[in-house]
Amino acid sequence: MADYDLVIIGGGPAGLTAGLYAARANMHTVLFEAKDIGGELLNTDLIEDWPGEESITGRELAEKMGAHATKFGLTIQPYSPVKKIRSEGDWKVVEMEDGTTHRAYAVIVTVGGEPTKLEVPGEAEFHGRGVSYCAVCDGAFFKGEDLAVVGGGDSAFQEGLFLTRFAKNLSLIHRRNDFRAQQILQDRLLGMDQVTAVTPATVKEIGGDTQVRWIDVERDGAVERIAVGGVFVFVGFKPVGRHLFDEHIDHDENGYLLTDQYMRTNIPGVYACGDTRAQLAKQITTAVGDATTAVLHAERYIEELKHVRRSFPEAPSETLEREVERMKLQRFLAGQTIIREGDPAYSFFILTRGAASVRQNGPHGEREISTLKPGDFFGEIGLLSGTVRNATVRATAPTEVLELDAVGFRELVESSQATKDRVQSSIEQRLAKAGPKT
Ligand SMILES: Cc1cc2nc3c(=O)[nH]c(=O)nc-3n(C[C@H](O)[C@H](O)[C@H](O)COP(=O)(O)OP(=O)(O)OC[C@H]3O[C@@H](n4cnc5c(N)ncnc54)[C@H](O)[C@@H]3O)c2cc1C
Repeated sequence: MADYDLVIIGGGPAGLTAGLYAARANMHTVLFEAKDIGGELLNTDLIEDWPGEESITGRELAEKMGAHATKFGLTIQPYSPVKKIRSEGDWKVVEMEDGTTHRAYAVIVTVGGEPTKLEVPGEAEFHGRGVSYCAVCDGAFFKGEDLAVVGGGDSAFQEGLFLTRFAKNLSLIHRRNDFRAQQILQDRLLGMDQVTAVTPATVKEIGGDTQVRWIDVERDGAVERIAVGGVFVFVGFKPVGRHLFDEHIDHDENGYLLTDQYMRTNIPGVYACGDTRAQLAKQITTAVGDATTAVLHAERYIEELKHVRRSFPEAPSETLEREVERMKLQRFLAGQTIIREGDPAYSFFILTRGAASVRQNGPHGEREISTLKPGDFFGEIGLLSGTVRNATVRATAPTEVLELDAVGFRELVESSQATKDRVQSSIEQRLAKAGPKT
């Protein structure tokens, strides 16, 4: 079993972007891709809405994204399908189809989805013999033939435009009169002589002999047969991310994973990005934006988890994982006060970066009673005793602390006898050091 900071699942635009950011942040990361890297880019002919490239083929963009992430040191493992992801304490265990397993502090799921099927007679039987879900992959096999495209969205129109290079005649079959595709795509495709819109029409059956020869559609109550050599289906999309989990993961009614604004799912340490996530637009730009956010958050989450583990090694890992989710990162400049003697105590802190001075007022003014370094915690005395802060803590360098509220702190302390003993002995040592306040 190999251990990583981060495992990325899926090598489409979201996964490759997550990989680029993780590699640049020096996180120990691996990206597993079931097929070749590129995701849906490999099924796309021309992309004209990727900023900075007026027009680029999907394959070229996939190659550029892969090369870019690899250049910064990302380990990519193509043809490595992931079977399941499960939680084991604060580890995420990634089980591969080949039976191997990997562990990581965090996982980013960017597995996209698969095309929705028409579910009509003949569709499954002729899949690969005239029924296709990817014009870019299969279009060239149908040079000079009459073809049908089923669907009315952007994908149907983009794929249809690609197929006009090969098709003698193209029937665009859609169940409504209006198309959802962008107007610019509609104008381009429907303006071509070889294209006929067949609407509102529903597909009833696909048939033929060794190959597809016809498609039956129902229009105005009557079934008509259109002779075609190929049927290209673009009627929707089914996200696949949630099938990687046996434990519950929040998703919407269509199976898209639900996240917060940081791309966090309800499972601590599991992020979801791109087409497999519930969102308004399934685009390359949104996929890469999601991935950027997820990695920046995951980086912080992993670092915090490691700090909290070091400070409370005896606490059960599930508790640590839960409390890390509750913690807030706070930053202080040298000289700034983090807590002040005499103030009410609402929270507990772990110092993760920088240094601080613990100071108490006495008859001769304020004096330093101890110093704090990364890994040290403070704020527990007031919280446990229910009194006000007994000392001031001031940053002596640019400092970062993790702040945990009173409820989370109590959960942490109660999580094991050894954790309770550790906190108790720290309190005793500190009170002894502080000496009597006169
Ligand atoms: C025909 C077509 C044309 C398009 N044109 C455009 C366009 O012009 N502009 C635009 O912005 N968007 C376009 N899109 C949409 C765009 O391609 C997607 O929004 C984008 O690819 C989503 O990226 P992703 O990384 O989330 O998912 P995907 O690109 O779907 O990548 C997911 C990857 O995860 C892998 N995977 C799945 N399951 C597993 C597993 N268990 N283990 C390991 N790997 C796994 C898959 O093999 C795949 O490589 C188009 C889409 C299609 C289908």
